[in-house]
Amino acid sequence: DIKGIQHPVCVAIDVCGGPALTSVGGKDDSFFDNDGQITKRPVRALTLSALAPLPGEHLWDIGGGSGSIAIEWLLAHPTTQATSVEVDPTRAQRIAQNAAGLGADRLSVVTGAAPDALEDLPAPDAVFIGGGISEEMLRTVWDKLPESARLVANAVTLEAEVLLANWHANKGGDLLRIELAQSKPLGRKRGWKSSYPIVQWSVQK
Ligand code: SAH
Repeated sequence: DIKGIQHPVCVAIDVCGGPALTSVGGKDDSFFDNDGQITKRPVRALTLSALAPLPGEHLWDIGGGSGSIAIEWLLAHPTTQATSVEVDPTRAQRIAQNAAGLGADRLSVVTGAAPDALEDLPAPDAVFIGGGISEEMLRTVWDKLPESARLVANAVTLEAEVLLANWHANKGGDLLRIELAQSKPLGRKRGWKSSYPIVQWSVQK
């Protein structure tokens, strides 16, 4: 059963007889119950790499979706903590379910719209913005971000990309454009099916 999340040992070692499950960030999308709104595996692996979880650190996962980013942050070390903020109540519930069995005390789910929903959260060591990028969101998150904490934001729309390009110009950090294509059947042969490019800004305050 690839949903080895119910059995933490299966996360570490493939003892369940199911498909091999990587113990690093970038698990198969099917590991997380989702409605299609999920950061896909290769982009998630790059995102976890940029977030760089360390023992004991606390992540804000803004626009939690399925919770895949927060859950992989929790799987990185037994002492990490995460708060997922998700405006859609059905998705917020799914995040909690996906995390169940992992030690729910390390994940809290906030149902509400950021940036307002960030009001009373404990300070983060890293923040991921995977949805709802706006000038107000970036300004609020930046103001709340402690010195030397990390921020990673993924943009798929042109509007969000422009904001990240401007913030990168002002604050520095790295801007990465992720363009991926996967082979898909094309008639009786195969062709490259491109995904939307993702622009990822990562910065340390
Ligand atoms: N990283 C997620 C996918 C994010 S999709 C995963 O891997 O599963 C973007 C999500 O952001 C959606 O679920 C959407 O409902 C949520 N969202 C959009 N704007 C938001 C806001 N202002 N506050 C909280 N969540 C928001």
